[in-house]
Amino acid sequence: MSTVISELVDANPSPAVRHDWTLAELRAIYELPLLELVRRAAAVHRQFHDPAEVQVCKLISVKTGGCPEDCSYCAQSSRYQTGIDSEPLLDRETVLGIARQAKANGISRVCMGAAWREVKDGASFERVLELVKEVTGLGLEVCCTLGMLNADQARRLEEAGLYAYNHNLDTSPEYYETIITTRAYADRLRTLGEIRKTRVTVCCGGIIGMGESTDDRLGLLLTLASLQPHPESVPINILAKVPGTPLATTPDVPFDEIVRMIATARLLMPGSVVRLSAGRARLSVAEQALCFLAGANSIFSSENETMLTKAVPSPAYEADLAMLGVLGLRPRPAFKSV
Ligand code: SAM
Ligand code: SF4
Repeated sequence: MSTVISELVDANPSPAVRHDWTLAELRAIYELPLLELVRRAAAVHRQFHDPAEVQVCKLISVKTGGCPEDCSYCAQSSRYQTGIDSEPLLDRETVLGIARQAKANGISRVCMGAAWREVKDGASFERVLELVKEVTGLGLEVCCTLGMLNADQARRLEEAGLYAYNHNLDTSPEYYETIITTRAYADRLRTLGEIRKTRVTVCCGGIIGMGESTDDRLGLLLTLASLQPHPESVPINILAKVPGTPLATTPDVPFDEIVRMIATARLLMPGSVVRLSAGRARLSVAEQALCFLAGANSIFSSENETMLTKAVPSPAYEADLAMLGVLGLRPRPAFKSV
């Protein structure tokens, strides 16, 4: 077990960025004694990133609810009674107002999400393209998560100046159909491939706590780490249990497993930004500190203590800035890697 890690860090002070990991290697890493795993991940983190920086992001749900997909975790699927109704696309002034307030609170990246199965050409997409231009004009990295895309739509987002596109694989290829039946893993990979053909960076990660096995978590990381290049951004979500969804009563993920997932992602994809995303609201400052040490270098924060919708809680700007201050961390500026 330790041979794999020594090759990774000790025997090689500048570990190569690899795309040929095996599941056995991932298991050996994930199962290391916890603090040893954190120590190794922290060492790699320092080689690739400024360990004093954490990127603070803001998610704006520009089109909430009424989604035809059946993702078992999601408050926005029209198949479940979650109390989230279908709302129209937010207007320009509302989005720009939220983005300006976010920037004033240290946010350098705004993610605009839509509860769509896929992008459809037409007025709504044109309005999203305008929003991409205007929010980018505020000096913020803009990420969009709008569902599946075709090549032309990816190209139009690129032309609008989009910085990143989020499209999560959520779990392993094997477990995917237990969570979602209305689309396939291959559909997600196809959209990721269309983004990769443009200059838009890729944001792709998953969720832990959906009843998956350790091998499913590692299967997700193996898929991500096999992509060439790696996704520039890897969100690790902890399931936010939404009443009314099939996963509402799933047991909580033990804290050490959250840290193991982050540290393993950091070791496999050393140059990527690892984002501690949904589900962070349940973690104490001390628990989050261990996640930062293990290589997480981004969080989502919000003015109104909600993340995606009111069903997914988020810590607030003020509390997060105070936490970063206590830990001696500072918000990372936009476009750092450009
Ligand atoms: N419709 C778009 C799509 O599916 O790509 C955008 C959906 S949503 C904003 C993007 C991601 O949020 C999902 O892929 C999922 O990983 C995450 N997410 C949604 N609900 C969640 C929950 N209850 N707990 C944790 N993560 C969640
Ligand atoms: Fe729809 Fe996206 Fe929610 Fe799935 S995750 S139900 S595609 S909004």
